[in-house]
Amino acid sequence: MSKQILILPGDGIGPEIVAEAVKVLQLANEKFDLGLELSFDQLGGAAYEQYGVPLADETLARARAADAILLGAVGGPQWDAIDPALRPERGLLKIRSQLGLFANLRPAILYPQLADASSLKPEVVAGLDILIVRELTGGIYFGSPRESRVLENGERMAFDTLPYSESEIRRIARVGFDMARVRGSKLCSVDKANVLASSQLWRKQFDVMVTDNMFGDILSDEASMLTGSIGMLPSASLDADNKGMYEPCHGSAPDIAGQGIANPLATILSVSMMLRYSFSQSQAAAAIEQAVSKVLDQGLRTGDIHCVGTTKVGTAAMGDAVVEALRSL
Ligand code: NAD
Repeated sequence: MSKQILILPGDGIGPEIVAEAVKVLQLANEKFDLGLELSFDQLGGAAYEQYGVPLADETLARARAADAILLGAVGGPQWDAIDPALRPERGLLKIRSQLGLFANLRPAILYPQLADASSLKPEVVAGLDILIVRELTGGIYFGSPRESRVLENGERMAFDTLPYSESEIRRIARVGFDMARVRGSKLCSVDKANVLASSQLWRKQFDVMVTDNMFGDILSDEASMLTGSIGMLPSASLDADNKGMYEPCHGSAPDIAGQGIANPLATILSVSMMLRYSFSQSQAAAAIEQAVSKVLDQGLRTGDIHCVGTTKVGTAAMGDAVVEALRSL
């Protein structure tokens, strides 16, 4: 039976990078006879423009029915002034929580070919291969009450709420332990237990643990400096049955949108994660990773990872090169 993949290109560079990832996905589909069927819809600002909301009920229904989802990125300054409830990121948070995608896997791998693009010296960062397991549907991004108001003395004030229940902690910790078991058996906790009650609860529950929603967001952004560019970081957001939404860790990069210069590799590597985690197609997933490595070996680089002695290419040329490399494997 065929597997349904819903593609949500999103905003900014989203459609540009997703177009390249789709080329790679289609070739992998043919080459490895994966039986995948693709369909397209909108999320974020693009959905607001088309449907008047950042996530339409019909889109959510299609996402529920799909076997996996590929997302570009959402957001942009043109939607900064609209009703906060209708802003693009609300659509993203809603689809994550409605689909129960609580486990966000963010691998940060330094390709040896990109050692010079890392913010650390090559000898310090060589061999970097870490996995950040971020809790994605709880914590401060979802907690209520949240409020922003003007006090009687005229000062503005705002607050958010950072809640975590035992069951939320337990299920993400289990993913962290499972992942650690098939890697180096080392699991590192990131929390702030000296001041945050929610972090203290995480500590009381487990000796070792993974990271909450906000810390995971911040840490994976920082990890991008180690891997050379945020344009190299893929991610998978999984539910309890490994149904997933796959997307690059970066945003919609409005500063470079429409110029054809964005790095599509994080999105292409997200496709590889999709094949591995949602469809157990590890051979096809590895082939995509190999194709990316081959293209880097050829010295092709988008602007964000470009350095002296390499060839600068645009988004489409990078995607085409990965397609050619995959075809030739
Ligand atoms: P960003 O990740 O979009 O961009 C940060 C910097 O990295 C920019 O200089 C950008 O040009 C660069 N960059 C990002 N992706 C790149 C790529 N593939 N190739 C080359 N360079 C790349 O973060 P931001 O500027 O803080 O946010 C921009 C918009 O994206 C905002 O509206 C924000 O809300 C949204 N956002 C969305 C997501 C998501 O959809 N998951 C995540 C983060 C931010």
